[in-house]
Amino acid sequence: RAKSQQRAGHFYFSRSMGVEIRERVRMMHALRTAFGQNQLFVVYQPQIDLATRRPVGAEALLRWQTADGKFISPDRFIPIAEYSGLIIDMGEWVMRTACRELVALRAAGHDNFMMSINVSQVQFRHPYFLEMLRRALADTGAPPEFVELEITESMAMEEPDLLIKMLGQIKQTGVSIAIDDFGTGFSSLSYLQRLQIDRLKIDRAFVTEITGSARGSSIAEMVIQLGRNLGLAVIAEGVEDERQAQILHTLGCPLAQGFLFARPMTADALNGWLSNDALEGVA
Ligand code: C2E
Ligand code: MG
Ligand code: MG
Ligand code: MG
Repeated sequence: RAKSQQRAGHFYFSRSMGVEIRERVRMMHALRTAFGQNQLFVVYQPQIDLATRRPVGAEALLRWQTADGKFISPDRFIPIAEYSGLIIDMGEWVMRTACRELVALRAAGHDNFMMSINVSQVQFRHPYFLEMLRRALADTGAPPEFVELEITESMAMEEPDLLIKMLGQIKQTGVSIAIDDFGTGFSSLSYLQRLQIDRLKIDRAFVTEITGSARGSSIAEMVIQLGRNLGLAVIAEGVEDERQAQILHTLGCPLAQGFLFARPMTADALNGWLSNDALEGVA
């Protein structure tokens, strides 16, 4: 009997696979409930001008704290949100929340401040994306020239023609585009040149590397050069110590983000941080 079942094409999952799938489904339900009950929130991590050590913007990052107080990393729940389609509504909510915070910061006198918002590829490929973006900007009154969308390099690698067309349309709204986690994919120079992008974000792994290895040239250095050659702004992410900040500055990297300067913080904390510490200078 077992034999005939096999021939009929039954799949046999290993026990650990079953556990993994159950866990994912459980988390998907919990995430949906948490989102419905407003248990998700957005934190903001300042971005710093390395020459002046003054804040120039912030990246919006999503947080999920469960009812029993545990934080679940976005690296875990974003893929589940993508898989379940929940990312469409969640991403729209992040977009609107971050745009509203940008408007609030401007009202408090922090003009010239940029807001960077992560966009999932599932969101990006959704037919409603452009409309969603336009509406978020219009409804919140966020000035598009101070809004930046972060897409990952791996995402930029798929379906080049579609991406090029989408970026063109997005750019027409006035927002700018950054390639996140840059250096982890394999975009060619000629391909990058065809993309209407504004910034490259050096992945944290390559920032860590500049103080870790004894090699003369680093990937970080190459990305900074690439940015210069293509006329793109460059920002380093995950800067944790002063030596990294100094090396990056010396290499000509204008901007940075990382625990050295500030951790991601709530909107209230960001307001306070910008009005107090930051204006005295972080260094
Ligand atoms: P990301 O966009 O590359 O964000 C940077 C991550 O590095 C954040 O992790 C941030 O908290 C962390 N980080 C910043 N400075 C440092 C540092 O000095 N040292 C270390 N070790 N880490 C640092 P987080 O908030 O856990 O987010 C992880 C990823 O989840 C993000 O990577 C992004 O890909 C995704 N994500 C977060 N929020 C959203 C969102 O609203 N939408 C989408 N689609 N993805 C999001
Ligand atoms: Mg990002
Ligand atoms: Mg990144
Ligand atoms: Mg990342």
